Amino acid sequence: MSLMLNRRSVLKATLMAPFAILLPRLAFSADAKHAAAMPDLTENDPLGGALKYKADASKAGPERADKKATCANCAKFNKCSPADSACKPVAKNSPKAPCEIFMGKQVSAKGWCMSWTKVG
Ligand code: SF4
Repeated sequence: MSLMLNRRSVLKATLMAPFAILLPRLAFSADAKHAAAMPDLTENDPLGGALKYKADASKAGPERADKKATCANCAKFNKCSPADSACKPVAKNSPKAPCEIFMGKQVSAKGWCMSWTKVG
């Protein structure tokens, strides 16, 4: 009986080994898909609206004093909040990227909001 259990255990372990190897890879792949599928921040978003986010910086109001300020040259562009474990930065010069301020959303490189911070 004991020998039979041992055989069964060995057989189970052998059959499960490939799943043990593949499972972390599948989980990582799901994370990458999640990051790529992040929705765009909209101007109707409660926080985006409060910070007067515009996907097209040229449509921002007088609050945008520096007319060269855009998400692309903001220190918070393509950065992830430490609280957002699903967030992944994207390739440099991407038209959209995560923003440290807006968890779970991506912003336009041509956008702007009142939290704009000069790089450097
Ligand atoms: S803080 Fe504002 S300006 Fe800076 S990247 Fe985020 S949305 Fe764009």
